[in-house]
Amino acid sequence: MSTTLGFAAFDATAPFAPFRFERRAPGDGDVEIDILYCGVCHSDLHTARGEWEGTVYPCVPGHEIVGRVTRVGASVEGFEVGGLAAVGCMVDSCGACPSCREGLEQYCERGDVTWTYNSPDKHRAAPVTYGGYSTRIVVDQRFCLKVSDKLHLAAVAPLLCAGITTYSPLKHWGAGKGKKVGVVGLGGLGHMGVKFAHAFGAHTVLFTTSPGKAEDARRLGADEVVISKDASAMARHAGSFDIILDTVAVPHDLDAYTSLLRRDGALVLVGVPELPHPSPSVGKLIGRRRSIAGSLIGGIRETQEMLDFCAERGIVSEVEVIPMQRIDEAYARMLRSDVKYRFVIDLASLR
Ligand code: NAP
Ligand code: ZN
Repeated sequence: MSTTLGFAAFDATAPFAPFRFERRAPGDGDVEIDILYCGVCHSDLHTARGEWEGTVYPCVPGHEIVGRVTRVGASVEGFEVGGLAAVGCMVDSCGACPSCREGLEQYCERGDVTWTYNSPDKHRAAPVTYGGYSTRIVVDQRFCLKVSDKLHLAAVAPLLCAGITTYSPLKHWGAGKGKKVGVVGLGGLGHMGVKFAHAFGAHTVLFTTSPGKAEDARRLGADEVVISKDASAMARHAGSFDIILDTVAVPHDLDAYTSLLRRDGALVLVGVPELPHPSPSVGKLIGRRRSIAGSLIGGIRETQEMLDFCAERGIVSEVEVIPMQRIDEAYARMLRSDVKYRFVIDLASLR
């Protein structure tokens, strides 16, 4: 065991505070990583603030982790002491069900995914897993990812959740040349969605509630920007989209987006608000065989594919690097949609 310093939420409303806990010693197949940077996902906020059921306190969030390997178990291959390694939203799964065998561990059919934080700890080092708002983590090599040392490392961290969560559905629903793709919300997920849709060659349209983000959206790869509160601007796009990826973290009217889909188009929800969206209109769906779908992060194999794609294309997140001690302020700004476009914690601030 090794004592690790992190920052934890001790209940749903208290400010974050320092928290010391034990990490297991690396076992045979484990990689121990000194965390350098950890991105701040809106899921961290939902969990820490008790907006989703089942938060166990103290809660140490963080699932966009990059760092340097400090120790490896005897059977570890491909990760060496001193090299870089990354960890995303999962640290284990059953490994045996059809989904796990297909490399879609996030959809483990035994419901046996160990999430990087707030999940029962199979190794019993602690009651639940603790994430990347901390200086060190120990992870099974099967859930460690390789990252390029050519990219700005702090800007690579958000790829581990915001990146894969947008890359995977855009690939699955066929975003590419000749397709018109919408992305709703220019936050952590949304800005990566815009970058990937553009990189895949799709005609990319950003929907935003923040007119001040329009110029950034174009710089990030949007061909068009629509202010979603402007009904006539929305109406101009009626029936024209193949895919709309919705990253918004609060309940909103989905009909505004389903009506923009062409025949067989899909509104893909990735945002997970605390409360349900208003029930969508069935009439708008059946008329053009439209669908509303959802997607959860991406499997380990696809996450590595996405990281390699980003390394090849020089794609990273737009980040604002903060010390750990400013996490509460970062959450407050996230709630005001004032993120450009992902906060990333520099863990040097805890050393
Ligand atoms: P974020 O950085 O806070 O971005 C959310 C964006 O939504 C905001 O920047 C804002 O963009 C827009 N927005 C905020 N309030 C709005 C409102 N009232 N009406 C319309 N749009 C609004 O959050 P994130 O980290 O990208 O996460 C987004 C959601 O995805 C969260 O619910 C998170 O838990 C979820 N998530 C899901 C998965 C998955 O696997 N499915 C993975 C990670 C995260 P504009 O200013 O441009 O309007
Ligand atoms: Zn996340």
